[in-house]
Amino acid sequence: MAIKYEKLIPRFLGYVKQNTRSDENSTTIPSTKRQTVFLEKLADELKEIGMEDVKIRKVDSYLTAKLPSNLDKDVPVLGLISHIDTADFNSENVKPKIVEDYDGKSVINLDDKGEYTLDPAVFPSLKNYAGQTLITASGDTLLGSDDKSGVAEIITAMEYLIGHPEVKHGEIKIGLGPDEEIGTGAKHFDVKDFGADFAYTVDGGPVGQLEFETFSAASLKVHITGKDVHPSGAKGIMVNSLLIANEFQSALPADEVPEKTDGRDGFFLLCDEQGSIDHTDMNYIIRDFERDGLKSRKDKVTEIVKSLNDKYGEGTVKIDMGDQYYNMYDVMKDHMEVVHLAEQAMKNLDIEPDEAPVRGGTDGSTISFMGLPTPNLFAGGENMHGRFEYVAEESMEKAVDVILEIIKLNNDNKK
Ligand SMILES: [Zn+2]
Repeated sequence: MAIKYEKLIPRFLGYVKQNTRSDENSTTIPSTKRQTVFLEKLADELKEIGMEDVKIRKVDSYLTAKLPSNLDKDVPVLGLISHIDTADFNSENVKPKIVEDYDGKSVINLDDKGEYTLDPAVFPSLKNYAGQTLITASGDTLLGSDDKSGVAEIITAMEYLIGHPEVKHGEIKIGLGPDEEIGTGAKHFDVKDFGADFAYTVDGGPVGQLEFETFSAASLKVHITGKDVHPSGAKGIMVNSLLIANEFQSALPADEVPEKTDGRDGFFLLCDEQGSIDHTDMNYIIRDFERDGLKSRKDKVTEIVKSLNDKYGEGTVKIDMGDQYYNMYDVMKDHMEVVHLAEQAMKNLDIEPDEAPVRGGTDGSTISFMGLPTPNLFAGGENMHGRFEYVAEESMEKAVDVILEIIKLNNDNKK
């Protein structure tokens, strides 16, 4: 393919070879030392390309940097954010493979033996990439396109602007952070120090993705106490907590589970259950796009608990239920100009925005609730979080194009 941003792909290939897996069992920030090692290398690179105020913040371990404005007027300060950790999958010794001019129908062997393959019959998205150059992992590991694509794209866009001073832009802040995949990185994000007026995470999937709606989420732990006695004399005495657990689950709507829902429908998911006659614990997650919907799901749980306690005695079923995060749209609805800016940038580049709501959360959702509106832009990857992950070079170029177009359009905005 014609090379537009010379360093984009070499940069990305270098990044994915560095192990930056996060660890949800760790209590340090970042959760793993290897993330700090990578952040320090990135800091050197940012200084080298000419970014200013490069620092790794103590409070949240975000690597932040500034590109000063070269305009003679004030425009809103734009933030660009991505994460450097990779998902919970083997990330040791990542060996990226390049498939040039993919035909959109062949099966791609990931490992030498052909044990793991990318087959369009299994992954129909491959058909969208005829004529493009794909980057894959090689069987044993994930690729880490999530989100080293985003990191490479943001840095490449900055390098482009620094190398082209005739391209006018306002002040830009970038933030490259740890531990997104374990859901903790953005919780410590220092919005005030970041100093942006609006931002985007560059952490989405295929070309066109523009996300500003996420689930609202709650977690639920159910503790059920039974009474274990010898079966021989159990009549009228034994209370089997396992069977009450079954009753609890059966009282939830059977069709409102992840495997039977999509689009805008929410669910209850039983993630884990451990028990004996004496005691059973169940862990659920509850998801809904509407705040009211989340509330009525929680009300439903409370009702079931009441009816089981009426039947088996007060205190038989106890719950811990708490909200985890809310739909980003609650914030974004008052800042839709940020979404419209990205939509316009994509349209100017003949990219059709895909605005399907995210059936999950994003770092931007957490950051939006801290007061910095932060929708999510595509970074290009497919099949995130495992050995079948891949990204097209063309998608990564388009992500850089979109970032630069957003920066250009922002020049017409008033601070
Ligand atoms: Zn990600």
